[in-house]
Amino acid sequence: MRRYTTIFWDLDQTLLNFDRSMEYALQEVFMQYGLEINEKIAARYAVINQSYWNRLESGELTKEQVTVGRFQTLFEELGIVHVKPEVLNADYQRALGSVFFYMDGARQLVTLLKEKGYRQYVLTNGVNATQANKMKLSGLDKIMDGVFVSEVIGYPKPMKEYFDACFASLQEAKREECLMVGDSLTSDMRGAQNAGIAACWFNPESRKKDVDVRIDYEIRRLEELVPILEQE
Ligand SMILES: [Mg+2]
Repeated sequence: MRRYTTIFWDLDQTLLNFDRSMEYALQEVFMQYGLEINEKIAARYAVINQSYWNRLESGELTKEQVTVGRFQTLFEELGIVHVKPEVLNADYQRALGSVFFYMDGARQLVTLLKEKGYRQYVLTNGVNATQANKMKLSGLDKIMDGVFVSEVIGYPKPMKEYFDACFASLQEAKREECLMVGDSLTSDMRGAQNAGIAACWFNPESRKKDVDVRIDYEIRRLEELVPILEQE
């Protein structure tokens, strides 16, 4: 008997390479608006962006406040006054949803698991239109059994309410048979703990576990998930 029948996947930096999409989208829109973009600015954006998403996870900010606020802060730091953050953000979200890059081995793995009969869902805090585009372009929409975007659910990972809403629409799924796989300790692993399901931390860069949260498994490469799933 399989212990896990259902896999909850995080999307960005777990199945799809978000960093590469972000790099591409930033380049695109900054050039479009005639703004200078270089590695230093991109790195600073990434830091600001992460701090805003952390505030979404803690329930402090809404999605709208996050997506516009990150550019507002960046523009203030760079002294950019002639471009509206909300206008640039809309183009940025479109650019983000127009490309995709799989993480190493991700496509092969989800295809294999589908063949083996596992049910697979994407659980993501991203922006709905952007995530839906990426799911479609990458073909993940055909492989996954469903997708839950926080913007639609009304709560973000790691909130218990988010997972309760997922389970409410997955009536056949038993919590003890579900495994959450993701790269984020604060949204994916903490979310799994809040939801009372098993958690597998995808940690390709061997980061230090600096958050007090329970994890059941830790993997460096996605294919290491197979023996975990296939154990009796
Ligand atoms: Mg992620």
